[in-house]
Amino acid sequence: MALDAKIPGGPIAEKWDRHRFDLKLVNPANKRKFNIIVVGTGLAGGSASATLAELGYNVKTFCIQDSPRRAHSIAAQGGINAAKNYPNDGDSIWRLFYDTVKGGDFRAREANVYRLAQVSNDIIDQCVAQGIPFARDYGGLLDNRSFGGAQVSRTFYARGQTGQQLLLGAYSALMRQVATGKVEMFPRREMLDVVVIDGHAKGIVVRNLINGKVERHAADAVVLCTGGYGNVFFLSTNAMASNVTAAYRAYKKGAFFANPCFTQIHPTCIPVHGTFQSKLTLMSESLRNDGRVWVPKNPGDNRKAGQIPESERDYYLENKYPSFGNLVPRDVASRNAKEQCDMNKGVGETGQAVYLDFADAINRNGKDVIEKKYGNLFQMYEKITAQDPYQTPMMIYPAIHYTMGGLWVDYNLMSNLPGLFVLGEANFSDHGANRLGASALMQGLADGYFVLPYTIGGYLDGNAKADVTTGHKAFDESEKQVTGRIDRMLSINGKRTVDDFHKTLGRIMWEYCGMARNNEGLEVARRMIQELRAEFWENVRVPGANADFNQSLERAGRVADFLEFGELMIIDALARQESCGGHFNEKFATEEHEALRDDDNFCHAAAWEHTGDDREPEFHKEPLEFENVKLTQRSYK
Ligand SMILES: Cc1cc2nc3c(=O)[nH]c(=O)nc-3n(C[C@H](O)[C@H](O)[C@H](O)COP(=O)(O)OP(=O)(O)OC[C@H]3O[C@@H](n4cnc5c(N)ncnc54)[C@H](O)[C@@H]3O)c2cc1C
Repeated sequence: MALDAKIPGGPIAEKWDRHRFDLKLVNPANKRKFNIIVVGTGLAGGSASATLAELGYNVKTFCIQDSPRRAHSIAAQGGINAAKNYPNDGDSIWRLFYDTVKGGDFRAREANVYRLAQVSNDIIDQCVAQGIPFARDYGGLLDNRSFGGAQVSRTFYARGQTGQQLLLGAYSALMRQVATGKVEMFPRREMLDVVVIDGHAKGIVVRNLINGKVERHAADAVVLCTGGYGNVFFLSTNAMASNVTAAYRAYKKGAFFANPCFTQIHPTCIPVHGTFQSKLTLMSESLRNDGRVWVPKNPGDNRKAGQIPESERDYYLENKYPSFGNLVPRDVASRNAKEQCDMNKGVGETGQAVYLDFADAINRNGKDVIEKKYGNLFQMYEKITAQDPYQTPMMIYPAIHYTMGGLWVDYNLMSNLPGLFVLGEANFSDHGANRLGASALMQGLADGYFVLPYTIGGYLDGNAKADVTTGHKAFDESEKQVTGRIDRMLSINGKRTVDDFHKTLGRIMWEYCGMARNNEGLEVARRMIQELRAEFWENVRVPGANADFNQSLERAGRVADFLEFGELMIIDALARQESCGGHFNEKFATEEHEALRDDDNFCHAAAWEHTGDDREPEFHKEPLEFENVKLTQRSYK
């Protein structure tokens, strides 16, 4: 199938304006005749629901949590990018566009990234109008700090709680629409299927997580904003409820999954400390504005940090990448940390950590200044590790954090399944093979506040309202499938817990499809996942009943999907015989151990089509064309 990204013609800087003009409009009186389902209430879903309702559409919004404001977006710490150039340090829309395309190792779609940079400034205006308490400088203007992969300061922030503040803004806008009756809110619902009628997405089937009842909802369009799938690795910085289920079920209904092997490993997380751990904690990238990363120069040096003199420390990022120093992009910083630990220069009890040291910054600026900037992060670190980072350097190690892969969407954010739109981390679009810090919040809010509200009109207007009801046989079939799967999981009554399967899957993924990959390992992992999946369906133990609040059952469904999806990630990683961004195949490395792309053969998005259980997925290619940015070997030196 030819994948048409529907990129508008014309110069890149004019595409979005021109497209908005060309898109058909739905007149205000007609908008209230259309019903739209939004699944997810993070920054993407919250902003989309509020904006669509404000425009006059009837919106039904769903989320897993008890309240929309508990979506995973609330955890975001460091900030949100925009090309305002308030510090007057040389930023521009073009520079944000360029940095993002380069940061993604030239595997993102130019037109989408340019639009993202363009609307980034509108996001800040919108959020300020909502009252988001962004940090301000001494003159009262909004303050900025730097994030990886950029030499300008363009990141707006609210201490280390930017996601929380932005989500409160989107949530307030959403709840205002709930109060007006334009949004009907369905918390504690898990979407378990997309209903497709005559080739168009026309509804969803959800499970009420409180009483187990399966419900049907019909609409004229379905918008998925269900976040990323980092939890396929079990240990990640994501919220425990983050999952792939909604996206994966849509994939099984015909939506293509793009670049599933593109996962992001964040360099600054608190290292793993034991086998009973279920979560990893991020130490925001903003800390690399002031923190200096180092390891002992000599392998095996296990003295305490304070006993290692300056002359025996290796500030390896500053030495190797003098231009960007500690603020190289995440994939580069992560690989270098692993390399140091592999050389036996890692620190701490396990040797799987490097130092992030604030001593210089504290000496230079004073403890008060550092506390004002990062106080809550330092407190969090101390609570978890029982070490005071004002006195001793933090210890950090890379961990799974974000997923650049997701459902394939065109320029309108519509999947190949007409009527199914995908926003935020759940789609694949804007970050290529590696996302730059502070760009996910930007993308989620761009999609929800400023892109979908225009593009969905183009679809609705062109597809006359077909009054579909939940009595349609496609809903019967979906519901039968959903309940059949739940009954099957409950009936197995085996010996292994859901978490045990999940942990094993996570270890396989981390070992063979994590920071470094090779073809032999990927083949091994594929077989291991197939065996684990077979065992799951014979030996999993899911206690409790369906007609109840049963979190083991919820997790079982998500882990069952991860067990299939993990294999798709491996298939994708094997198909991409190059290294780019977060996908580092050891066979394809430069002499300096950087990712070595193969632009002749792999300058494309890989979109996978489900062809049936136990059958190979079919590969589709969206070639990426670079007319405005020259393809080069990424360098941060
Ligand atoms: C610790 C941490 C810090 C971060 N800091 C930053 C930062 O500083 N800057 C930045 O740009 N990015 C940051 N990120 C990344 C960013 O937070 C996420 O990429 C972004 O918030 C995702 O938003 P979203 O709206 O796409 O999805 P989410 O916020 O994950 O929301 C998903 C929603 O979908 C719902 N859902 C999921 N599945 C289903 C289902 N089957 N049925 C019904 N509902 C479902 C959930 O209930 C939820 O409401 C950080 C990430 C982490 C983990």
